[in-house]
Amino acid sequence: MRKEPNLKDYSSTYQHFDWTNETRQLTGLPGGKGINIAYEAVDRHADGNLKEQLAIRVIRKDNSYEDLSYGQLKNLTSQFANVLLKLGLLEGERVFSLLGRVPELFLTALGTLKFKGVYCPLFSVFGPEPIFQRLSKGEGTVLVTTSQFFLKKIKDLLGRLPALKYVLLIDVEEDWDDRTLSFPKWMNQASTEFEIPPTKEEDPALLHFTSGTTGMPKGAIHVHKAVFTHYITGKYVLDFQPGDVFWCTADPGWVTGTSYGIISPLVNGVTSIVDEEEFDALRWYGILEKEKVNIWYTAPTAIRRLMRMSIVPREKFDLSQLRLVLSVGEPLNAEAVIWGEQAFGMPILDNWWQTETGGIMIANYPSMKVKPGSMGKPLPGVEVGIAEMEGDELRLLAEPEKQGHLVLKRNFPSIFRTYLHEEERYQKCFKGDWYLSGDLAKKDPDGYFWFVGRADDIIKTSGHMVGPFEVESNLMKHPAVAEAAVIGKPEPSIGELVKAFVVLKEGFEPNEERRLELIGFGRKAMGPAVAPKEIEFVENLPKTKSGKILRRLLKARELGLPEGDLSTLEKTN
Ligand code: ATP
Ligand code: MG
Repeated sequence: MRKEPNLKDYSSTYQHFDWTNETRQLTGLPGGKGINIAYEAVDRHADGNLKEQLAIRVIRKDNSYEDLSYGQLKNLTSQFANVLLKLGLLEGERVFSLLGRVPELFLTALGTLKFKGVYCPLFSVFGPEPIFQRLSKGEGTVLVTTSQFFLKKIKDLLGRLPALKYVLLIDVEEDWDDRTLSFPKWMNQASTEFEIPPTKEEDPALLHFTSGTTGMPKGAIHVHKAVFTHYITGKYVLDFQPGDVFWCTADPGWVTGTSYGIISPLVNGVTSIVDEEEFDALRWYGILEKEKVNIWYTAPTAIRRLMRMSIVPREKFDLSQLRLVLSVGEPLNAEAVIWGEQAFGMPILDNWWQTETGGIMIANYPSMKVKPGSMGKPLPGVEVGIAEMEGDELRLLAEPEKQGHLVLKRNFPSIFRTYLHEEERYQKCFKGDWYLSGDLAKKDPDGYFWFVGRADDIIKTSGHMVGPFEVESNLMKHPAVAEAAVIGKPEPSIGELVKAFVVLKEGFEPNEERRLELIGFGRKAMGPAVAPKEIEFVENLPKTKSGKILRRLLKARELGLPEGDLSTLEKTN
């Protein structure tokens, strides 16, 4: 069943887009008291005609459901805001979560926003050190977590975290001491009535640490005004329509888990499916079928894992309700887009954004022709360019197909407002009106953007500039290749040598013959200047917690750098 997409004509919408006009549905706090993300996401619907509608369905590990309607979510998030009030928190103080995909995650995030605290999620797979770094840098006052995580990862840190006043444990009935409290007990005692205080567009709302793919994670601060981007991207990119069932698989610790796992679907009044379990191909396909998911937002790392398997999901599962499959986080290889056609009967729609942009900025839209391998076109309301730096000056490149810095005009609502405690670094990201994303890209004559690589990852070999993504994508066209990561290995005669780390698909043996075959395949596809000269087979690629390939780590290993130089790697416990 095909629905007409919300964005019917990309060019004309882009041309006439006006943020104020397009976001009129967001009513703001009653009495003209400003704009608050949680109000737009929850109370606006609960007070209107979506009160009884299912907002969130959490599927527990044992397959049982926990369902929350918009009305229930309003009450529960108000209760959490009242808990913060009772604990004596002040507006602007930071509330962290260290949780999996459980109902309390939503209550913490949205209740904090109602209270006008700043919400910061952590990956629950983090070990104590990354948790400590973020909690101390972010001066967390409250942390919501489980007793198990607390005992394993937090307890021993408490002495080093003087700002952390309270830890709320979601699975204990009684307070353990004055600092370690029972989440259910405090919630039960709190009223379901909470009046959201006046909230200015520029009031801080969210603190998100970047993935740390290129270095130490940065703490990006976002404000309540970002909700305009969450709304518009939900409407035009994810194409939320009344009655839709949406599933975002992102970990709650990653910015996608908040912007699209929590905020955007709620702001748009649809139902979100939340799976407590981690990746499991058959479980996932089963959920798509059983929950009649219409829109599925996932990441290349998961898609590549699904591609490795021999299952064609739409032959084994009834996926007739699925309307859109989207991906974010890393470049989506053309192969994966095409696999989507076969697997789901539709191309996978890639989109690009960053922690810093708070929401989707470049996308493939349901009504627009997909060019596999392209990130798509700028979000209506956002100006994107390709630029070159001439000394300290930024010059936009008008000619198509020129490779340069991917830059965004800084005037969209969800642009980050600073890097926490790193104002100078923040200022350096801007040249006049333009924000430098740190990525390189090019634009084709039809206005589609193509990702080239992160500026830091570009390989300089024999006078050529090679983007790892291009090489990886070409290697992935070989039937034996499941995943590849490409780096530049210093080689005095040519600058850097292109080296590929390759994970083979099930049933393909890594041997010398295969290696030579892949080197030959690469040369034929890319030419000798760009093709990898070295190939190493590996079982797995190192990744960040959000599933991004850590080329930086592969390179450090290649150079034999000591562990100390890898201090930014997120170690699991
Ligand atoms: P850090 O900034 O700490 O190194 P990070 O950049 O990986 O970490 P995120 O904000 O989670 O942290 O990721 C944003 C980056 O991910 C983008 O700048 C880009 O390099 C990459 N990315 C995201 N989506 C896409 C996409 N669709 N195509 C290509 N690259 C993408
Ligand atoms: Mg980044």
